[in-house]
Amino acid sequence: MKKLFLIIGAPGSGKTTDASIIAKDNSDKIVHYSTGDMLREEVASGSELGATIESFISAGALVPLNVIMDTIMSAVKNAPRDVILIDGYPRSVEQMSALDEVLASEDEIELVSVIEVRVSMEVAKERILGRAAEAEVVRSDDSIEVFNHRMKVYTDPLEEIQAFYTQKNLLKVISGERTLEEVVEDMNGFIQSRI
Ligand code: AMP
Repeated sequence: MKKLFLIIGAPGSGKTTDASIIAKDNSDKIVHYSTGDMLREEVASGSELGATIESFISAGALVPLNVIMDTIMSAVKNAPRDVILIDGYPRSVEQMSALDEVLASEDEIELVSVIEVRVSMEVAKERILGRAAEAEVVRSDDSIEVFNHRMKVYTDPLEEIQAFYTQKNLLKVISGERTLEEVVEDMNGFIQSRI
């Protein structure tokens, strides 16, 4: 049985960094995928699909449902470990419902929890614009305009997503406004208690 954890959080919440550290420290049993990283890998491959994906990423918009569903489901199915962390999904009500439907007919995958890494808008903005200022390779979506749009895309469906997973008793909120070590310790402790 594969155990799936979804990690959601605003751009700049640190969710990808947190999850990759946890997977690295527990590489015998946990594997981590970031939807943003997987999509950027497809872009880097130079494929036709990658070119389509880049047009959405650079605008701060969500890639189409079929693209992201194929991306996460093939990651889950091919995962070399049984505990899987996916950060960056779901990002819309449509994505949440689509996954719920797929999981209803999957005996081999259990959604264990949805972890929300919560940070204020101010902290998110500071981190993202700081990242853009320091980066050697600037991400195509780390500008103020695109940040504002990405934040809105994140926040708009958030309440509905929170309500859905709260009702299923799957939502776990952790504060992302602490040191990296503290957030990682908290998230890791929670994951370990559920596997
Ligand atoms: P991130 O690295 O998580 O900030 O994601 C960067 C970009 O990848 C987003 O702004 C979207 O364009 C795209 N993306 C990441 N995750 C998803 C998702 N679940 N659904 C659709 N697009 C996504």
